[in-house]
Amino acid sequence: MKPNPIQWILIFTIFSLTFSCKEKSKEKDQNTMIKDWHSAAKPEEAVVTHEDLDLKIDFEKKVIEGIAMLSVWNKSKGTELYIDTRNLEITNIFLEKDGNKTEFEFLEEKPFMGKPLKIKISNSEKQKVIIVYKTTQNSDALQWLEPSQTAGKKHPFLFTQGQAILSRTWFPCQDSPGIRFTWSANVNLKNELEAIMSSEIRSADSTTGRYHFEMPKPVPAYLVALAAGNLAFQKIDDRTGVFAEPEMLEKSAYEFGEMGKMVSAAEKLYGQYRWGRYDVLVLPPSFPFGGMENPCVTFATPTILAGDRSLTSLIAHELAHSWSGNLVTNATWDDFWLNEGFTVYFERRIMEELEGKNYADMLAVLGHQELTGTLEDLGNKSESTHLKLKLTGKDPDDGMNDIAYEKGYLFLYHLENLVGREKWDAFVKKYFDDNAFQSMTTESFVEYLKSNLLHINQISEEKAAVASWIYQPGLPAGYQIPSSLRFQSAGNAAQKFGQTGKIDKSQTQMWSSHEWLHFLRALPKTVDKTQMAVLDDNFNFTQSGNNEILFEWLNLSIKNQYLPAYLALDKFLTHIGRRKFVLPLYKELLKTQEGKALATKIFDHSKANYHSVTRQSVEGLF
Ligand SMILES: [Zn+2]
Repeated sequence: MKPNPIQWILIFTIFSLTFSCKEKSKEKDQNTMIKDWHSAAKPEEAVVTHEDLDLKIDFEKKVIEGIAMLSVWNKSKGTELYIDTRNLEITNIFLEKDGNKTEFEFLEEKPFMGKPLKIKISNSEKQKVIIVYKTTQNSDALQWLEPSQTAGKKHPFLFTQGQAILSRTWFPCQDSPGIRFTWSANVNLKNELEAIMSSEIRSADSTTGRYHFEMPKPVPAYLVALAAGNLAFQKIDDRTGVFAEPEMLEKSAYEFGEMGKMVSAAEKLYGQYRWGRYDVLVLPPSFPFGGMENPCVTFATPTILAGDRSLTSLIAHELAHSWSGNLVTNATWDDFWLNEGFTVYFERRIMEELEGKNYADMLAVLGHQELTGTLEDLGNKSESTHLKLKLTGKDPDDGMNDIAYEKGYLFLYHLENLVGREKWDAFVKKYFDDNAFQSMTTESFVEYLKSNLLHINQISEEKAAVASWIYQPGLPAGYQIPSSLRFQSAGNAAQKFGQTGKIDKSQTQMWSSHEWLHFLRALPKTVDKTQMAVLDDNFNFTQSGNNEILFEWLNLSIKNQYLPAYLALDKFLTHIGRRKFVLPLYKELLKTQEGKALATKIFDHSKANYHSVTRQSVEGLF
């Protein structure tokens, strides 16, 4: 029998995939009794333990053509495998055993969830399934950038964003944070661009444009990430470094020069860093988040390049995810606070190690201010202010706000205060060790907390107010509000300015970015146009090169209709796609008729620059 062309491709792919990388997945059963509403997978019956991807990136057509070979553990020895997909074109599916095509069907499509794929498999316990597919223009994880949208302006750029449930739009997978698998990928690029993936092992043959990546540690699908563009690398130390477009490299390497110290500080707190290298990839400005904790290589926004290392706590945050999130992962998106609350707590501890307690206190106060704002917006009785969420029927990207981050942080800070730092730190370290490479529901966390911290220290659940923090809205009465000594000067200056319209410039000279943020937030709700002009003349806020400060100023400018800042506002919203900045500014604009007209105009010419995550959130506001 002569194989047809597709079988030839297949034979070659199977050969190269199996030859180039041995399957290393641990065959440990996962938390498969957990029901994740956001995935169609049935891991208790058949679960994917490893994926080998063969990817061809076509920048002209804006398409990835892929072959995914899935290693399946068919626990129930049934004949059905359920895979998540959304806006993927499936060409063919084969069973490796006989190389024959197998039957498959798409199940009913649901908004934001996509179309689950039901594949007929054999009843053997271990088998491989090969899916030939293509991404489409609606593959929302992918952002294809034109050369004009990059720093260098010469080459296109591509990056993926998998969290929360977007990985299924660029490769077929069981897309639940509770399902972990190991993976490898061959990436083929036509031109001289570079590819990077969130893998521990990387190798490249630049003459052929062929890259190979392997992740031997099991991770959930949302942590598989890819970027390709004109990328250069600069080493910081033996295990940390920076990838960026050459035009951004020097600035980025300076900004993140302390990364090695951060990793050591994190290890000193909560145990060994388990992912080999820790690098940061600085993306073009349309990246929708501050950072994404893709293992081994954090994807970061260039909006934290302030030139003075003042915004690098974001890197401490993404690094902390190497423990909370990537090592111990929220089992479903309802448990998102376990990823983010722990990470914010850990981030502030890293910053305390590096910069001292007064510095970390400033971060905690700024976080608390943001939380207070969110609680006001959502209302103190809203279910959305519970730590444990109910996202059934909702897109998890819409349900995520700073409750998980800042209320989560306050809960853990409260537990630390209950038992004292020494016992608390020993508990957190043990929590990461005992649950490494596993998923955690809120309920299993509570059980773990009771046995390993509360009971042995004779603290009752009532005293710890566990249920109230997790399952009740708002914040428990009498919780400890963070305070900062360093903010006193900025707070007083803002109050005095509100009363007199005057400010003593000399007292601001030693202020950090954080003190400026506090100052702007502490100003009275209405500041008249003359006072806005006085501030701008003295401190050049409209021209600020620090995006956090500029954002705060622009927000204040919209609130007080300070028109001289509107050109900068237009430029900021056109150029930057980070949702944390973009969304509140549109929200503020939409409060007035004139603002609405301006918001519509800006959105019309900016939306092509936004990643789908940001674009859809803004559309939701309109
Ligand atoms: Zn985070």
